[in-house]
Amino acid sequence: MPMLAITHYPDAILRRKSAPIHHISPAINALVDDMIKTMYASPKTIGLAAPQVGHSVQLIVIDVSAREKKHGLLVLINPALVWGKDEKILREGCLSLPDYTGNVTRYNHVLVRGLDRGGAPFQIETEGIEAICLQHEIDHINGMMFIDRVSSLTTDVFRRKRYGKV
Ligand SMILES: [Zn+2]
Repeated sequence: MPMLAITHYPDAILRRKSAPIHHISPAINALVDDMIKTMYASPKTIGLAAPQVGHSVQLIVIDVSAREKKHGLLVLINPALVWGKDEKILREGCLSLPDYTGNVTRYNHVLVRGLDRGGAPFQIETEGIEAICLQHEIDHINGMMFIDRVSSLTTDVFRRKRYGKV
């Protein structure tokens, strides 16, 4: 299981809508394993989307355990936000944009639907960091990044030396 190279902004793959996955092939299964390994090996990282490792497919992995006790490792295929409520502003970072963080408004409570790694329908209703992480990663598969969601690039984006978070 190799570690995957992280794709950085402004690589075009990060701006493209990813393709849905119709068949959980051995290649997709291997990609899931490699993404999990890559996420856990990256300091403070709680989520990863396939376009961030060079694959334009609708696949995300999340584990916010380091920040909050929630559902542990989640693998979602073709995930979509069904609804969200209770908006909240939180500072976010991204492995694909390692030198910056931003104040982003997100829903604090969401319902997300997709498939699990076996291809079975899956849904999760959750709150807090896990809800915010899900929205951040679902944005990635839709070609969006957190800088698209800040109110102002001059007052809500901050430079930093080290990366972390989602
Ligand atoms: Zn990100």
